[in-house]
Amino acid sequence: MQRTFIMLKPDAVKNGHVGNILARIEKEGFKIKGMKYLQLSLNDAKQFYKVHSERPFYNDLCSYMVSGPIVAAALERDNAVSHWREIIGATDPKEAAEGTIRKLYAESKEANAVHGSDSVDNAEFEISFFFKGHELV
Ligand code: UDP
Ligand code: MG
Repeated sequence: MQRTFIMLKPDAVKNGHVGNILARIEKEGFKIKGMKYLQLSLNDAKQFYKVHSERPFYNDLCSYMVSGPIVAAALERDNAVSHWREIIGATDPKEAAEGTIRKLYAESKEANAVHGSDSVDNAEFEISFFFKGHELV
């Protein structure tokens, strides 16, 4: 078993896709270990996306991520990290495969519905960024 960290980004919440995406999470066999509904502070967004701080999209991305509430969750499954990346599809929904979450629900390359950790190490770091040990059950 492996864990990954995901978010349903502000566009997914605003556009009413939370229920459908959670249903997909369960259908794909993920177990929910932790889940929070919250609005990020700008400091938290900047910290979370620090690896992208030199990229041209960083400031816009951070402003976008604080523009409305999100759902943050820790999910468990076999190959959780790669399986989630597979079912969310490419960063840009225009390039995402049919049936992927971003193809189905994303608005744009920035407002792309969901986050997913890109490695097992980053997943553990990102889970600990959002959850204390006792919040994971
Ligand atoms: N992003 C953006 N413009 C880009 C690339 C990325 O706005 O050209 C945003 C997008 O919301 C993406 C996030 O920055 O999900 C993190 O980028 P990354 O390359 O890690 O994409 P991901 O791992 O989310 O597919
Ligand atoms: Mg990434």
